[in-house]
Amino acid sequence: MKYNGLKGMEDILPPDIAAWQVIEAAARDIFSRYGFQEIRVPILESTDIFIRGIGEATDIVEKEMYTFTDKGNRSVAMRPEGTAPVVRCFVEKNLQTLPSPQKFYYSGPMFRYERPQKGRFRQFYQIGAEAFGVAAPSIDAELIIMLKNLLEAIGLSGLNFEINSIGCAECRPAYRQALLDFFGDKLAEYCPDCQRRYETNPLRILDCKIERCGALRKGAPIVTDYLCESCRKHFDDLLSILNAFNVPYTLNPNLVRGLDYYTKTTFEVTSEHLGAQKAVAAGGRYDRLVEEFGGPATPAIGFAVGMERLVTLLKEKQSIEVPSPKVFVATLGKESELEGFRIVETLRSQGIWAEQSYGGSSLKSQLRRADRLGAEFALIIGENELKAGKAQWKNLKVKEQGEVAIADITALFAITS
Ligand code: ATP
Ligand code: MG
Repeated sequence: MKYNGLKGMEDILPPDIAAWQVIEAAARDIFSRYGFQEIRVPILESTDIFIRGIGEATDIVEKEMYTFTDKGNRSVAMRPEGTAPVVRCFVEKNLQTLPSPQKFYYSGPMFRYERPQKGRFRQFYQIGAEAFGVAAPSIDAELIIMLKNLLEAIGLSGLNFEINSIGCAECRPAYRQALLDFFGDKLAEYCPDCQRRYETNPLRILDCKIERCGALRKGAPIVTDYLCESCRKHFDDLLSILNAFNVPYTLNPNLVRGLDYYTKTTFEVTSEHLGAQKAVAAGGRYDRLVEEFGGPATPAIGFAVGMERLVTLLKEKQSIEVPSPKVFVATLGKESELEGFRIVETLRSQGIWAEQSYGGSSLKSQLRRADRLGAEFALIIGENELKAGKAQWKNLKVKEQGEVAIADITALFAITS
């Protein structure tokens, strides 16, 4: 019997894993400088939190959730995103009592039942950051700049930052009505999904990826024309901070994002090198979500980075270095083998990657293995060497060789490493 992994669920293997680790390490480093601390929330949550948080009339909740009933007859869901669980945790653990602002980041798998294709998986990974407790646009700017710094730290530049403001509970109704008036005229010509969105959430029509719908909505009312005074000011102030820091951005009035919880600022980072799935990161402000989850009124903003798409970009830019051992210890005879084992253990304890040979193959095949591993040095210990307390060394890269006392081996590699 041969088993296959599930569709849309990928194995991540060496050497690719090195690219993942580069991104994760850079995120840890950069985020910590901005005061973000890691938070780990469960993969499984009560289905309600996603319905409540992301919104009933969204693609994620309507079509993409991995929901099932557990043995206790509860409806649970594999998290499709990280913000709702973090907000659930924030409210449950009263994290507003921590010094403000409360800044967290997370990293881990998300699950969406989507059609697998390039850049789109059913299990995919995000690194996300969320900041609670600040209403001022300077924190919006801080997050966007932090994200830009992360992308630059891993060597990605030339990405587009698209920005919009989608207003708040005060200005949304007038805009919604303007959209209803506009779409209502030709409603029958839109796709069935958009016709449904017209009833449930007309803003989502702006996000429809179907070409015909895109053409039909040309000339639709623009959200930023409908912002109330406070949203307008927030948006203008944010843009002027971004200008002051020379963050290049494009205004995209159609950027409504696929989650209902957003208010005011929304943004997306896109790349021209990814084909149809071009968004590598996305985020926005969600000033009402903590309150909706039963917590105290707390403004908040966050973003999430799609790891697979970043890895694709990173691999395009630079080849991944395959790691290789510093030393391979080849031995002949039982006693030498034990001595070889001791030597690799000592080297490892000094922080050096060392490999040994396992059980009595010929010297030729041991050295072949050293070569395949890409080892820089081979140490050879036969019975004669062992008696003399010596080892032969070979630099496999530059074809030099010599002899070293077994007692001096660690010193030799401590110097060359
Ligand atoms: P998309 O437009 O690609 O469907 P989205 O609006 O559904 O994105 P978000 O929920 O904002 O995406 O998630 C943030 C990021 O996570 C995206 O910009 C993308 O990089 C990544 N992402 C989302 N869904 C997937 C998926 N199914 N497979 C791989 N990455 C994904
Ligand atoms: Mg999506």
